Amino acid sequence: MHKGDLLYTGKAKSVFRTDMKGILLMEFRDDITAFDGKKKDVLSSKGRLNAQVSAYLFRLLEKNGIKTHFLGMPDDTHMLVRELEMIPLEVIVRNIAAGSMVRTYPIEEGTVLEPPVIMIDYKDDERHDPLLNDDLIIALRILTPEELAVVKELAHRINRVLSDFFATLGITLVDFKMEFGRAEGEILLADEISMDSMRLWETGTRKSLDKDVYRFSKGDVMETYARVAQVITSAGREN
Ligand code: 5GP
Repeated sequence: MHKGDLLYTGKAKSVFRTDMKGILLMEFRDDITAFDGKKKDVLSSKGRLNAQVSAYLFRLLEKNGIKTHFLGMPDDTHMLVRELEMIPLEVIVRNIAAGSMVRTYPIEEGTVLEPPVIMIDYKDDERHDPLLNDDLIIALRILTPEELAVVKELAHRINRVLSDFFATLGITLVDFKMEFGRAEGEILLADEISMDSMRLWETGTRKSLDKDVYRFSKGDVMETYARVAQVITSAGREN
């Protein structure tokens, strides 16, 4: 596999061209950031653990009929992915009120959200990822109304697969962020699903098992990431 030109570099991942048309290489780096990049560190093994978890969850979703950009893992920190036309949205599904939702709205942390709440942000660091609504998404021509319906349906389906999976591990999927892209008229799940993009609580104790450990200095980040990655990738071997 030839690692070609750097196409894009984000806060924790870089994307490279390969020698195969339409196939990109996504590198999971050891960088970790929070609060719009105001807090940042480099944590050894973090890229490997997030890549491992993302690959596992993409495979699980594919087995459950969800189309993703995932193609394979040439090594521990790189993922081969299908090149997509990325949609500049952060689609967040919330099962339990937490994080920015409880900071912004009058709702108590831990409130069960039934049905789950979908919130969609415009992915733009300079604008601090502002919250959108359906009318804005259509007015800004980010999605057609039909595509918006597809994205929401996919978000709910992905949430059901992941929530059920985590429940078997004694972990509550509180909320998570997804990104989507287009290929040949279809919408596919892209980016990553990892401890950086999910909020996970130990069921019962509400102990954080995700990037909140880093955001709010709740303990040993890498010890948490390693334990969660181990539980995810070993307990669900039959999936
Ligand atoms: P909140 O809005 O409560 O900060 O985040 C909700 C969920 O979406 C959390 O699981 C959080 O990790 C994820 N999330 C929100 N914005 C981003 C982002 O810009 N990058 C990543 N990786 N995850 C995000």
